[in-house]
Amino acid sequence: MNKLDELFRGKAKSVYATDDADKLILFFRDDTSAFDGKKIEQLSRKGMVNNKFNAFIMQKLEEAGINTHFDSLLSEQESVVKHLEMFPIECVVRNITAGSICRRLGIEEGKDINPPTFEFFLKDDSLGDPMINEFHIQSFGWAEAEHVEKMKQLTFAVNDVLKALFLEGGMLLVDYKLEFGLFKGEVVLGDEFTPDGCRLWDKETRKKLDKDRFRQGLGGVIEAYEEVGHRIGVKFED
Ligand code: ADP
Ligand code: UDP
Repeated sequence: MNKLDELFRGKAKSVYATDDADKLILFFRDDTSAFDGKKIEQLSRKGMVNNKFNAFIMQKLEEAGINTHFDSLLSEQESVVKHLEMFPIECVVRNITAGSICRRLGIEEGKDINPPTFEFFLKDDSLGDPMINEFHIQSFGWAEAEHVEKMKQLTFAVNDVLKALFLEGGMLLVDYKLEFGLFKGEVVLGDEFTPDGCRLWDKETRKKLDKDRFRQGLGGVIEAYEEVGHRIGVKFED
């Protein structure tokens, strides 16, 4: 398989075509962004850490029967994935209050959410990724009803698998964002699962071990990502 042109340069990853129309290469750069791209920095080792972290999680999800786009690790910062037709939608599940739900609903951080709640956002940085609902998705044709159902079902299935995985490592999965796409008519989990797109707290101290360290200028961002990885068994060294 040969790497061809860059098709898309996102905020943290670059997407390359390959000579197999069904496959893409995701290149995890060292770039880190927050606030819809308004805060951007380069963090050394970040691309490698997130590439290997994501590969580990995607394989755990596959083992649990969840269809993902992950094919194989190609290099320190690259993975081969299925070429999906992405929905312009972000699916968020929350187990504990943090981030935008606190601001929107005036709830303090750190409250358990029972049952865990689900939110859709439109993937559009220029609009600040606004919250949307299922009626919007239908009316504006962003996804078909059966695909929306599947995305909800898979996003909650991911919660069951990963809450348990992180808890074994002494961490709480506070919330996370997933993106899905279609591959030969099937809804498949795409993009990435890394501490860039979720919140993880130490169970005892509630120390933040995710991208909030970058958003809030707490420092030790990549060290925290590596600590999370080590606690769940990710191997960063060859
Ligand atoms: P952003 O788009 O938020 O800046 P990234 O820098 O992570 O994010 O860019 C990666 C892009 O690749 C995103 O737009 C994502 O939707 C897209 N993508 C992720 N996985 C796949 C896939 N398997 N097939 C097609 N596109 C994908
Ligand atoms: N998230 C993400 N990309 C986005 C928006 C949110 O990965 O464009 C993740 C975020 O890291 C968190 C969860 O989705 O784990 C919920 O984010 P929230 O709505 O609280 O927004 P935030 O306050 O993080 O901007």
